[in-house]
Amino acid sequence: MPLTNVQARDVEALLHPYTPLHRLAETGPLVLDHGKGVCVYDTQGREYIEGMSGLWCAGLGFGDEELIEAAKEQLSRLPYYHLFGGKGMEPAIELAEKLKEIAPMPVSKVFYTSSGSEANDTQVKLAWYYNNARGKPQKKKIISRIKAYHGVTLMTASLTGLPANHRDFDLPLAGVLHTDCPQHYRFAEPGESEAEFVARITASLEALIAREGADTIAAFIAEPVMGAGGVIVPPAGYYERVQEILAANDILFIDDEVINGFGRTGNWWGCQTMGFTPDTLSCAKQLTAAYAPLGAVLIPDAVYDAFVEQSRKIGTFGHGFTYGGHPLGCAIGVKAIDIYQKRDIVGRVRALAPQFAARLARLDDHPLVGNTRAKGLVGGVELVADKATRRAFDPGKGVGAACARACEAHGLILRALGDTIAICPPMIIAAEELDALFDRLERALDDTEALVVR
Ligand code: PLP
Repeated sequence: MPLTNVQARDVEALLHPYTPLHRLAETGPLVLDHGKGVCVYDTQGREYIEGMSGLWCAGLGFGDEELIEAAKEQLSRLPYYHLFGGKGMEPAIELAEKLKEIAPMPVSKVFYTSSGSEANDTQVKLAWYYNNARGKPQKKKIISRIKAYHGVTLMTASLTGLPANHRDFDLPLAGVLHTDCPQHYRFAEPGESEAEFVARITASLEALIAREGADTIAAFIAEPVMGAGGVIVPPAGYYERVQEILAANDILFIDDEVINGFGRTGNWWGCQTMGFTPDTLSCAKQLTAAYAPLGAVLIPDAVYDAFVEQSRKIGTFGHGFTYGGHPLGCAIGVKAIDIYQKRDIVGRVRALAPQFAARLARLDDHPLVGNTRAKGLVGGVELVADKATRRAFDPGKGVGAACARACEAHGLILRALGDTIAICPPMIIAAEELDALFDRLERALDDTEALVVR
């Protein structure tokens, strides 16, 4: 198909992230024009169910009048200000108050960023600054996990445990350690039960800490249900044991709630769904339902108190972003949390979760599907070359990407994470729309099966 005018202009003008650029001129970008509810529409007027909430973020869908009004009002009142040098503004204060109220652990202060990457990057500086203030400047290493995704700055790409984010960039940076990925389906030994798997990988975390020396390790970062690594739901007991190990070794537990936060897993926070209490927390994405960019770091008393002391001794915390706490993002964030509360979005997710899980489980019988997993309204479908042996496809075959393209042909946008298809619909989705999403995915899986060569 020849490219439309707008597609040709796109190809001429843009460098797209995470996109096979050598094929883009041929496949053509999908250029979206507008959105309403759970659907988006391309420039040709074709409708797609947005089964990924964009990039796991547009949790309230598109065209929400209340969010639009909140944005307009803030833009006309004060379109920009910042928090440097002790300046302030009402929306930043109000959002911080709301975040403190709904946080899963006691929070002293909120620090704003423009994105999830910046929030996690800030977490590392906070942990270092905190340990300097405590007279433990050597306690600096950060532990992350294989298959984790924490962002794209040099540090957060280092924390990310996916080879594509390290390759060509000489990453990870020194001082970043990766421990086991808690995915039983892919990483269990033959015949190993979930309990045995948890015991083995948490013992391996303990051994890593002992080997490196607890006095050299500042923090452990984890996303409760791992999103971009392939929608991985760790087995029961995993986080409980991890939390014990971290506490015993005076290591901060950084909770990356950039995808999980604000109801996605059936609780306000993924850590509540997965059963742990972090020391500090990063959020972004659904913080504003994606109507403006904003990230936040929730800081506990102990860390903040050390900050004040350090500020007295050596000077201010030399870190902050021009748009951290942007009033537009904060005003929208306040409204988004208000909507989550008054429309009981957590209750909605819980009510839809059984249907979501049942439709996902139905895919287990499909010849292409090796494994499905879900929590709340986020799920993954792992495509395999051989169901019995769990053999993966040769990555060069691009089977996941082919399936995502087949979904588009059926009016559904999903995301291929390698050969795992991620599903993360707006949390306002209706039961019939959720059925339509899975009907289209089933057709796309059949189309993909007809194309694959094993
Ligand atoms: N952390 C997690 C768990 C994410 O999924 C992402 C983005 O997908 C990030 C951090 C980075 O956020 P951003 O893309 O806003 O920098």
